[in-house]
Parts: sequence; structure tokens; C-alpha cells
Amino acid sequence: MKLKIATLAGDGIGPEVTHEAQNILTAVAEAGGHEFVFTEALIGGVAITAHGTPLPQATIDICLDSDAVLLGAVGDNKFNALSPDKRPEAGLLQIRQVLGGFANLRPSVAYPALSENSPLRPEVTKGADILFVRELLGGLYFGQPRWWNKESGEAINTMRYTKSEVVRVARVAFELAQKRRKKLTSVDKANVLEVSQLWRATVDELKADYPDVTVEHQLVDSMAMHLMNVPRNFDVVLTENLFGDILSDESGIITGSLGMLPSATIGGTVNLYEPVHGSAPDIAGQGKANPLGAILTAAMVLRHSANLEQEAKAIEAAVVKVLDAGHRTADIARGNTSANVTTQQMGKLVHSALAESIDRQQSLHAV
Ligand code: NAD
Repeated sequence: MKLKIATLAGDGIGPEVTHEAQNILTAVAEAGGHEFVFTEALIGGVAITAHGTPLPQATIDICLDSDAVLLGAVGDNKFNALSPDKRPEAGLLQIRQVLGGFANLRPSVAYPALSENSPLRPEVTKGADILFVRELLGGLYFGQPRWWNKESGEAINTMRYTKSEVVRVARVAFELAQKRRKKLTSVDKANVLEVSQLWRATVDELKADYPDVTVEHQLVDSMAMHLMNVPRNFDVVLTENLFGDILSDESGIITGSLGMLPSATIGGTVNLYEPVHGSAPDIAGQGKANPLGAILTAAMVLRHSANLEQEAKAIEAAVVKVLDAGHRTADIARGNTSANVTTQQMGKLVHSALAESIDRQQSLHAV
């Protein structure tokens, strides 16, 4: 198959980790006879330096002409004096708007080899494998009216959803649950908020279309506790925008390092894939960045934009294998295992583990 991927490496550690992710995608393409065409474009601080804007029109054009956008990270302290709408981060907000994805997917996985990295006890995180589906374009962050009247000392934000906005994101969550362990937890605050009552009623209406999926509703406050007490009880978790922002960050605790977390935003014109972490200026250019979040993001590209599920799983398995073998960048070094690989070495190790599993598959097919 042919896949056009726009790579927006961005600032700080963005280029370092994106390079490793792209190498892994190239390996998958070569092994499977696919044609992945990568087009680089500027975003963030590097775009300000080159073109005076964090999101040049040329970047937008390249993204809209692609099947997927793979982004590294944006942010550079040297632009801190600029107003928020001119800073590198503004480019990220703009590209998200341009691409228009309404469903943000954030996996949270407890890797046995990293059980000491989470502040939660290993027996609590054991077996946790959660996929958050967060509505991204509605709710409190966008609802009108919104204002702050400094004279009167009053401010207002509006939580608003239409039924169709709930339906479209809930269908994404149901369909993903069907491909996983077939459990959907919908989070709301239906004991207090009318918006949540609409949310819950809409999810309940859709249940009939997905009879193989078990649905449960959780109030957001108790969900915040259950997530830390019994994370293995959850499969796909569906939330509105604000609740998802908070809970998906909380669930990062399960994995134990920001450098391990991938994400995807789907449902718009072109899907956008980015590791959760930022540009980490404190470690940029030193070979210390963990590329696994970006590499796991590459697996999401294959899963959600190319329908290459086996290949996505093979990348995820290669990451597990490398972790099990004790290879660690500094952010995931704990206990008896100290930091023992650079960004590039970690990328190469995943590449080798992936190549081995591809070879094994191919020889199995040949038998
Ligand atoms: P950050 O995610 O960049 O870093 C937080 C901490 O985690 C740092 O100590 C960093 O060294 C570490 N870290 C992050 N990713 C890592 C990785 N892959 N491997 C190893 N360690 C890693 O967040 P921050 O420090 O709050 O922000 C730095 C800059 O990034 C700011 O300009 C911010 O606006 C921007 N930012 C961008 C994004 C994005 O592009 N999606 C997200 C968050 C922050």
C-alpha cells in the first residue's frame, strides 16, 4: 500500500525521536512491500526562525495532502518573550484545528519491565492496558459564552455538547472496543450535569449497535480513584474533553514515564500522531531522549491510518522485548537498571527486535 506521511519534527528532542519513529516505519514498509512517502515540514520554533510564523502555509498544504501527520514536539525557551499566539506552541494548536480531529486516543500501558517506574505498586498496575478516547473539539474548552469580567469579578465558561458530537466520538470508542477486549467505560458527571445526562443517554442509545461490547458508566470523580486502584479493570475509556484531559494525564502514571506515551487524534481531514511529551529542552541534542513514545506513535499510524494491525502489534512487541532485555534511556532507568542506551541506540534496538520478528513471520509463511 502507499501512504503519504507528513513529518513535522519540530523543536528540542522532536527531531531526535521522530527520526527513530520514521526509521521504524521505513523498516515496516520495506518488509511488507509498502510505499511510505515521507515529506518533512516545519512547525514551532524552527518554523518561526525560518519563516516568522509557527505554522507556515506550506506546512498546512503538505499536511492536508498527506494520509497521516507525524509530529515530534514544539517549544523553545528562546521564544518565551513572544505573545502566546506567536510562540511555537501556537503552531501545534493551529495544526490540530486545521486537521479537525475530534477523537484523541491515548493508550496507557503498564509494561512489566517498567513496573518500578510507576509510583503505583506493581501489583496494582499489573495487566493495565487502557485506551482513552477523549472528545477534543467540544465541551468546556470551546463552549460559548465564555468571558472574565475583571470589574465585576465574574467569569463564565460553558460546557456544551450536541447529540451528534457525542455520537461521532462514542462510535469511535465502541468500534475500538470491538477490536480490543470489548469493554467500554463512559465517564461523565450525570448526577449533576445535564450535559453528562445527554452524554450518558446517547451512549446508551448506541449500545444496541454494538451488542458485543459491555458498557459501564462511571462518574468522573470515582473514575479518578478507580483508575489508580484497579487500572486493569478498564479497556476503552470514553470521555468528554475536560474529563479526558485530566484522566488521561492521570493514567500516564500507570506507565511511569512521559517518554513512553503515544497519542493519535483521528476523525478529521487527516489524522495527527504525536508523542505526548513536549520538546524537553533540558535534554535536547544530548542523545538522552526516550524515542519509545514516538515509536509507539508510529505504531498508531499503522493501526489507524493504514489498517496494518499486525505491523502495529509487531512494533509494540518489539518495544516490550527491548524493555524486557533491560535497555533504558535515563527517564526509565530505575532500581537495578541504570541508563545504558542513547536515543539512537534505543531506536536501533527496536529496529533489530522488529526485524527479527518479521524474519520469523516470513520464514513461518515460507514453510
Ligand atoms: P516536556 O514534556 O518537554 O518535559 C517534561 C520533563 O519530561 C522534562 O524533564 C523532560 O526532560 C522529560 N521528558 C519529556 N519527554 C521525554 C522523553 N521522550 N525522554 C526523556 N525525557 C523526557 O514538558 P515541559 O518541560 O513542560 O515543556 C517543554 C516545552 O515543550 C515547552 O516549550 C512546552 O510548551 C512544550 N510542550 C510541547 C508539547 C507538544 O509539542 N505536544 C507538549 C507539552 C509541552
